[in-house]
Amino acid sequence: MKKYLADRTALIDASGIRKIFNLAASMKDPVNFSIGQPDFDVPEPLRQVAIDAIQHGKNKYTQTGGDPALCAKIAGQITAQFGWQNPSVLFASGVSGGLLLAFMSLINPGDEVIIPDPYFVMYKHLVNLLGGKCVFIDTYPDFRLHPEKIADKITNKTKLIVINSPCNPTGSVYSPQELKQLAEIAAKNETLILSDEIYEKFCYDSEYPSIASFYPNTIIMKGFSKSYAMTGWRLAYVAVPENLKSIIEEMTKIQQYTFVCAPSPFQQAAIAALDYDISDLIAGYKTKRDIMYEGLKDKFEMIKPAGAFYTFIKAPNGNGTAFVEKAIKNNVLIIPGKVFSEKDTHFRLCYTTTNDKIQKGIEILRKIA
Ligand code: PMP
Repeated sequence: MKKYLADRTALIDASGIRKIFNLAASMKDPVNFSIGQPDFDVPEPLRQVAIDAIQHGKNKYTQTGGDPALCAKIAGQITAQFGWQNPSVLFASGVSGGLLLAFMSLINPGDEVIIPDPYFVMYKHLVNLLGGKCVFIDTYPDFRLHPEKIADKITNKTKLIVINSPCNPTGSVYSPQELKQLAEIAAKNETLILSDEIYEKFCYDSEYPSIASFYPNTIIMKGFSKSYAMTGWRLAYVAVPENLKSIIEEMTKIQQYTFVCAPSPFQQAAIAALDYDISDLIAGYKTKRDIMYEGLKDKFEMIKPAGAFYTFIKAPNGNGTAFVEKAIKNNVLIIPGKVFSEKDTHFRLCYTTTNDKIQKGIEILRKIA
């Protein structure tokens, strides 16, 4: 079989999260703290917009970069938020699609990409697929940004720094102070920053700070999957300031020959989503965060997460995989830290389930700790 396959397929491994997801399908009523998606459904008014769009024939290709009305609305919001004049916007098939297009447009073989560790799985595998080199910044045990460590790793091969706040898997939200410090470091070298802001709305203790407020050489990615529970609708956007517009042009060119466009009826729902208030849903997730943290903090070494819907917890004896196996035998699904890290000392717990299930999971994890 190997003779048929491209060499690059050997550069990546199947997602460790999916393996657990498949395992969950064979278990009877597990406490599922594994896959990262909201447990609420798309809010009803937004579902209705998508249904109406389908009924009214919005079923054809849109322009490659997205429906012009949608792109214009997003551009207006970006200008209002960051003061960027004439930002370029591309609508993509999820942040996943945006990441692939951005990395394909930017990374040459041998280019270095700086990534704080723990990290969202896709960054590492996409960089490897394209022949780039990941340069990981160890952020244990506090999972802060550590701009000074990033400064030490910048070389003349550095193409990009990827940051993700609120962070999957740690739940960390980087402070304006940390982001300003990183902006100063990046400015010295004119280094590009890619900011994955898919969890921006899941920020529990402060307003969401974006690096884009401090640094114009930034590619921002914002998704609809998590905020509006549209993970299956595949919607996100990428925005850059005018000085980086050729990056969006190249990404659009590649989108033409790959995804073509994001799903068109759902783009109409995205326009409506931009004005839809989800603060009650976020308040519910803040409560879940609190239940989880209060229930586990005296038994486990953990940082109180300030955002997203994950906690990244040190496993007893510092062996992530061993503890995950024990948890699964006890009907609790969690993910070993090594899926998100070069280390295997922790586990990721996603608390997007009912408060009752969270309580049940806490009891089991405390018992087996
Ligand atoms: N970035 C991060 C940090 C994520 O956690 C995810 C989803 N798990 C994505 C990007 C991709 O999301 P989507 O493709 O659904 O927009």
